[in-house]
Amino acid sequence: MKYDYLIVGAGLFGAVFAYEAMQRGKTCLVIDKRPHIGGNIYCEDIEDIHVHKYGAHIFHTSDKEIWNYINRFAEFNNYINSPVAVYKDELYNLPFNMNTFSRMWKIRTPEEAKAKIREQIEELHITEPKNLEEQALSLVGTDVYEKLIKGYTEKQWGRSCTDLPAFIIKRLPLRFTYDNNYFNDRYQGIPIGGYTPIIEKMLEGADVLMNTDYFAFRRENSDIAEKTVFTGMIDEYFGYSLGPLQYRSVRFETEVLDMENYQGNAVVNYTEREVPYTRIIEHKHFEFGKQPKTVISREYSSEWKVGMEPYYPVNDEKNGKLYEEYRKLAEKEKNVIFGGRLGQYKYYDMDKVILAALECVKREFDD
Ligand code: FAD
Ligand code: UDP
Repeated sequence: MKYDYLIVGAGLFGAVFAYEAMQRGKTCLVIDKRPHIGGNIYCEDIEDIHVHKYGAHIFHTSDKEIWNYINRFAEFNNYINSPVAVYKDELYNLPFNMNTFSRMWKIRTPEEAKAKIREQIEELHITEPKNLEEQALSLVGTDVYEKLIKGYTEKQWGRSCTDLPAFIIKRLPLRFTYDNNYFNDRYQGIPIGGYTPIIEKMLEGADVLMNTDYFAFRRENSDIAEKTVFTGMIDEYFGYSLGPLQYRSVRFETEVLDMENYQGNAVVNYTEREVPYTRIIEHKHFEFGKQPKTVISREYSSEWKVGMEPYYPVNDEKNGKLYEEYRKLAEKEKNVIFGGRLGQYKYYDMDKVILAALECVKREFDD
């Protein structure tokens, strides 16, 4: 055996694991089928702007240890995410807060907003929300649901809101203050210089092979490492033997525009069903860029099919059950650790991926 660990996937999970293993004197080979490291947090430089190639990434956490951990690899700026939502010719602040409500109902005080929502909820008679639609309606009432949630969610997930789990909408804060911060977390920002240098630092000292697909690689290199850390799709690992899990894919239509400022904000969501994309990202605003040109990406969401990039696991009941079956197979797989968004089939944010990787490291080396 040439290495202690073969790490499949040069994303955040694989990189944290590799870094920690090397700190403990272990040798690592990291492979990725993409031509670059970083997984979905990879940034590409276009017109001197760090373009989040696989979707906008804002680091946010309430976990001080994770914040201190990531700050060992980068300094963060003071960006606060405050998306704007466009519904037809109306413009709203997100997340759902007093700015949203005052625009929606021409009211001013928290009491007025609460009364309006209460009045709408009372008519619905929802006792225990069973799905995303009921959860959303019982939190914000019909107007906000119809204008800002229903169309966006159905585009994003390609499913009716009644077929989606309630937890997805609980990701968004609801508050009765004039505060447009999209997250409730204590710590937030964008790494100065983009995300890729973080992964570069974590992988220092590892052997790294790009453009290398695990399934072809292992045919020729079955004894290259003592153990494998696999951060690809768990169902693909098992040859989809129990049937495929469902994922959502995203297509990014990226354009360089010959103007300094296109939309005045990093994230603008298009919440009506009829607009085919979900949001437009203007990357320079994550880093308060002053470049003469700008780069924007429109995001189109679609159902994942073999050969596409999987982005979001569809964490509904049916897929949850199937994942459980794959997890049982994974437990029996000797010397393979499954991790990350695809390996654990979880709608993880970056801080949760780091935490999961560190817990995995602890089980592997300290317990
Ligand atoms: P990935 O980054 O997906 O890495 C897995 C790697 O494995 C990939 O590079 C892939 O090419 C490689 N791989 C897979 N299969 C194989 C194979 N067979 N052989 C070789 N290599 C393989 N989180 C936040 O905290 N804030 C945000 O604002 C945020 N925004 C997001 C926006 C979008 C559109 C998406 C999709 C996710 C977002 N996330 C966000 C989540 C974040 O991207 C993830 O938490 C994190 O990047 C997951 O890291 P990972 O290592 O598990 O997976
Ligand atoms: N959402 C919505 N309207 C919006 C933004 C988000 O209804 O304008 C819902 C949608 O269901 C989405 C979920 O809230 O999937 C979580 O949003 P978030 O911005 O966290 O999604 P992500 O950045 O992970 O795509």
